[in-house]
Amino acid sequence: MSRPMPAVYLVARPQFDAERFLAFLQHENERWQRSEGATPSEEIVEAAGRICYMSFGDRQAPRSNAEYIAHLITMGHESVLEHVSWSFLVTGVSRAFTHQLVRHRVGVAFSQLSQQYHDESDATFVMPSQVARSAAAEAAWQQAVTAARVAYRELRDALAPPSTATTEDARREARRAWRSAARSILPNATETKLFMTANARALRHLLAVRGTVVGDEEMRQVMAQILRLVRDEAAALFPDFQVGALPDGSPIVVRTPPS
Ligand SMILES: Cc1cc2nc3c(=O)[nH]c(=O)nc-3n(C[C@H](O)[C@H](O)[C@H](O)COP(=O)(O)OP(=O)(O)OC[C@H]3O[C@@H](n4cnc5c(N)ncnc54)[C@H](O)[C@@H]3O)c2cc1C
Repeated sequence: MSRPMPAVYLVARPQFDAERFLAFLQHENERWQRSEGATPSEEIVEAAGRICYMSFGDRQAPRSNAEYIAHLITMGHESVLEHVSWSFLVTGVSRAFTHQLVRHRVGVAFSQLSQQYHDESDATFVMPSQVARSAAAEAAWQQAVTAARVAYRELRDALAPPSTATTEDARREARRAWRSAARSILPNATETKLFMTANARALRHLLAVRGTVVGDEEMRQVMAQILRLVRDEAAALFPDFQVGALPDGSPIVVRTPPS
């Protein structure tokens, strides 16, 4: 089986109903000078920000969408960025990684593969790239994860009761019971999948505190993929974030504080 690698898929994005918004402005007898090329996410943020001051028509300063959003960020008016969120499917990552990620509480939602409902007899394991660079480390690592998989299957065989349960509820709880016991043997490296939704403000926080940690390559790999995806969606919301590279070629999020 091929080695699992972190992969992030963007699976849901904001949609802006510009026609409705313009109809509202017409009703208010207001005009909005829109920026050519602004994406739906960027326009949602600008529209939300302008509502705060009704800065349309004569009250609209001659700023592009990107300049307007950069100003919001510089002023610390980042709650406006909460109006856009994206959903990602994150796969090929370890339980160690997701344990860190799900510590984030604000502006994020997670749904993760369950080790109680999902049989992990064929679990795969995410090898840290540092391990892959040393033959001795890789041999020790392979031995440990293989032993864990074997032990999981032995626990399954010893604990999974013969199907005497008469109801589906009872069968489900019996499965949950043996999987709960058997999963206790699985290592942090066990591969998992996670569906994550986050708003732009939460993502900026996540990228800043998680994507910049040199010693955490798996986190950097995922954060760099997320940053590339959201910059394609709404570069104006992430003008101060770039994907850089460390000397070993692995990605790192670089943040340039606004001047
Ligand atoms: C490099 C690094 C090392 C770490 N090491 C450890 C460790 O050794 N042990 C450990 O347990 N954790 C560790 N953590 C996890 C860390 O303590 C946080 O739990 C995690 O990063 C979530 O951060 P957060 O609270 O800023 O994010 P979120 O939960 O997403 O919150 C976002 C922001 O909202 C505000 N906020 C959220 N909740 C509250 C609240 N209740 N009250 C007031 N303001 C709030 C804060 O401004 C916060 O920064 C580490 C994190 C990093 C980045």
